Amino acid sequence: MKIEIDNNSGFCFGVVNAIRKAENHLDTAEKLYCLGDIVHNNKEVERLNRLGLVSINREQFSNTKECTVLVRAHGEPPETYKVARKNNIKIIEATCPVVLTLQKKVQRGYEKMKALNGQLVIFGKQGHAEVVGLVGHTEGKAIVVNDTSDLSKLDYSRPISLFAQTTKDQKIFEEIQNIIKKRMAHFFKEDELPFFVTNSICRQVSERDKAIKHFAGKHNVVVFVSGKKSSNGRMLYEICKTVNSNTYFVSDQSEIELSWFKASDSVGICGATSTPRWLMEEIREKLNQTFD
Ligand code: SF4
Repeated sequence: MKIEIDNNSGFCFGVVNAIRKAENHLDTAEKLYCLGDIVHNNKEVERLNRLGLVSINREQFSNTKECTVLVRAHGEPPETYKVARKNNIKIIEATCPVVLTLQKKVQRGYEKMKALNGQLVIFGKQGHAEVVGLVGHTEGKAIVVNDTSDLSKLDYSRPISLFAQTTKDQKIFEEIQNIIKKRMAHFFKEDELPFFVTNSICRQVSERDKAIKHFAGKHNVVVFVSGKKSSNGRMLYEICKTVNSNTYFVSDQSEIELSWFKASDSVGICGATSTPRWLMEEIREKLNQTFD
């Protein structure tokens, strides 16, 4: 059996940065709280739990005082920092720099829309941590659209400023832009549409589409490794599946079914931006031991 791990899969720099900050802090401290799971991958969360990282939810955060809390790569709404000041909580800032920049742009976009009686729209998953953070930078007023079916929420006779959650699909984002343009054209001259688009999809994600397609096409079986909560994982898995129907989604090596493989197979192991390399290596190890 030939096995290859995709070198383009695994943590993006935002996640690497957050984990490094947590590990650095835990080198000299016994415990560190993290607002939400540091990464959408249970196995990595469990590894960090053993080092002293404790995930807390918003309610627990509001009731916590005088401790240190890490803000993960997804970022947070301004309200979180207010609570931290009130409760004397020290924040370790691990918001990804790409998300920090996006939060500032969303805030400026919102001020502009307020002045024009427009709407700020975010193409993203309702309730996703990054989206919650972005909406918080618009006084909670941003309209979140998860897909084209949500576009009925918009008023096309008013200006629109459109952004995207960093891990969303580029093609659907373009589809959304085209639909908005067409609908606005009923109310405005086509070359004067008050429609402002900021392409905020992260290159760390958008460039993986092409790379993973190529990788999945090279092997007869693909094992896609990701936490079930990762939206980026779901998206990349679907891409692999369209290229290679022998693609299997697993969270760890225990979910591997040996009936998927033959000794003569060429197997590709890949994953999401939240998949740790060590998890992919464990799967390679299991297949090597079984088929060697
Ligand atoms: S996907 Fe991009 S924006 Fe999101 S955490 Fe990773 S590097 Fe940052």
